[in-house]
Amino acid sequence: MPNASVGSGSILEEFGRAVWDEAGFVADSREWGLYEVLEPDGTLKMVTFDAEIAQERRDVEFISYGSQALLALQEKVRCWGKTDTTLIMPEALQVPGDLNDKIRSLAHLAKCRPQEVRETRFGWGASVLFRFHVTYQTADMIEELLDVLIDLSTLADITTLLGPLDRAPVAGWDDRVPPLSLLPIHTADEAYWRAVTVASARIQTRRLTIAKDYGTQQADELAQSQHYYETTLRGLERQLQTAADDTRRARVRQKILATQAEWAHRQEDIQRAYTVTCEVVLDQARLFWTPTLRVFAHALQRTDVRPIHFDWYPWARTWAPAVCSKCHEAASTLYYGAAGWHCGCQVESAG
Ligand SMILES: [Zn+2]
Repeated sequence: MPNASVGSGSILEEFGRAVWDEAGFVADSREWGLYEVLEPDGTLKMVTFDAEIAQERRDVEFISYGSQALLALQEKVRCWGKTDTTLIMPEALQVPGDLNDKIRSLAHLAKCRPQEVRETRFGWGASVLFRFHVTYQTADMIEELLDVLIDLSTLADITTLLGPLDRAPVAGWDDRVPPLSLLPIHTADEAYWRAVTVASARIQTRRLTIAKDYGTQQADELAQSQHYYETTLRGLERQLQTAADDTRRARVRQKILATQAEWAHRQEDIQRAYTVTCEVVLDQARLFWTPTLRVFAHALQRTDVRPIHFDWYPWARTWAPAVCSKCHEAASTLYYGAAGWHCGCQVESAG
């Protein structure tokens, strides 16, 4: 029996190439059976579907049925849905004026002298747009798309900058882009979980709004069923009073009990129908590479120098929010702690 995992042109190879296309991987076949693959998160690796090549080349990852590499590939596609990478290049990279004033207005550093700029440097920052498909189920089905934009450097929620990002000029990889170094970034997984946290809070708010919107409709339905069952029960009570004999009375009593049980069921059904449940699926993720001005500053805490940095987005002509390094939420006052600047959410007190 031929081994389908061996040799170029196998079913597995076709599958792999289709998956790369779908997931936004850039795959280049350098030589027969050998691929250089650039993943959306920036990982670059050499892979092959050919067992012989895999034996000859130890630096090449072998993808075969059941291999870790294939499982990882499937997992990535499952987790990320459709992915896509975009390079943003604003017309000009200019350093804004009055830097000291600007960075002081971004965050107050507790127990420190006002921060001062030491150095500025442009680098490549990145952000990921996560598009979730959310289905709310109540008396009706409501389908919505939920966008969350996460800065990969700080894990800040910068969804409000989606407009400027959409309007920013897109560059091709071969365009004359300045050779900027890469700013330190978090992994795609960390960004994903951060996006899930941000999305969950928004979905919870939306659920409450939907529940409120349908509250009147639900109250109407409950009132209608109440009217119906009360009328029915009153009729049965009259029948009970005017019943000719015991057999007839017993039958009516049974009917009353059955009607009461039915009413209770109907109430439960209405409550259940109006409970807002929801299902969330990641529909697609887009990675944006964006030039970012990193402003390195420091602040004096008594005689200790505390370094801090702030980011300016030239493509949005705005500053990145100052965020807590622990919970990644935006904060206007930051405290210096063992793990860096935080919003007050860290257990240990400000030093
Ligand atoms: Zn925090």
